[in-house]
Amino acid sequence: SRSKILSVQLVSYGDNQVLVLTRDVTKVEKLERMRRDFIANVSHELKTPLTVLSGFLETIRDLPLSPEQQKEYLNLMYTQANRMQNLVEDLLALSALESAPSASEHGETVDLSQIAQRTVDDAIQLSGGKHQLDVQITPGLLAMGNSAEVLSAFSNIVTNAVRYTPEKGAISVRLTRTENELGRACAAFVVKDTGIGISAEHIPRLTERFYRVDRSRSRESGGTGLGLAIVKHVVQRHDGELDIQSKPNQGSTFTLIMPLVRSVVTD
Ligand code: ADP
Repeated sequence: SRSKILSVQLVSYGDNQVLVLTRDVTKVEKLERMRRDFIANVSHELKTPLTVLSGFLETIRDLPLSPEQQKEYLNLMYTQANRMQNLVEDLLALSALESAPSASEHGETVDLSQIAQRTVDDAIQLSGGKHQLDVQITPGLLAMGNSAEVLSAFSNIVTNAVRYTPEKGAISVRLTRTENELGRACAAFVVKDTGIGISAEHIPRLTERFYRVDRSRSRESGGTGLGLAIVKHVVQRHDGELDIQSKPNQGSTFTLIMPLVRSVVTD
């Protein structure tokens, strides 16, 4: 068992002596509870769209509907199917991240600047001109790792900024050169929004799987509740850091620090 031994006692038990070990089972219990919660969450998240889907299927099968009504129902079904697809994709991404070896050691060169630009292009599409976007990307910043993973991390943060910022709000995306506490050259990817913000008690839990401040708001805007869990894993696998600052009704700042490629010394 992985539980910690808290105390060892030799106790007389009739004619025998018995060794009594007291174990700390809180950690094991906590892991077990997390596993159970996770399965319950996944089941619930899949069940909701499935119930809606089969409801519409039944209606289409059993009721005489006009072509317009049919079309409307099919569109609603499509939205639910999409939701399930996003969820399954995020689940697969998470499990791949959890089982893969460290990306910074086994990776390729990742062009952070190019990836940041791509997430900005996607954000412009998603925002549809409803937000004021301010972009500053230092070109040529390279890290070691996995490009697809970094893209999903950057894109989750930027997409959230758009989704959780009302119309006319401002979003700024910056990728700049910086140093971490160890003095190592790093890139800072900083996404700041003037959106709904998050109150302090929620911030430490945001990277837990399926943790959402407002369930219905997250769903409405197409969230799976897994985005920041994915971000956290990607950052860890790239020896990076994630920082979240936020104030309700004022906005949030998500900062992702990632070590740059060590410069090659040639003689
Ligand atoms: P979701 O798919 O629900 O957005 P995430 O893991 O990406 O899941 O984020 C978890 C929760 O963190 C969200 O449900 C939301 O409550 C909160 N959140 C994330 N980004 C922001 C942001 N930029 N502004 C306000 N709240 C945010």
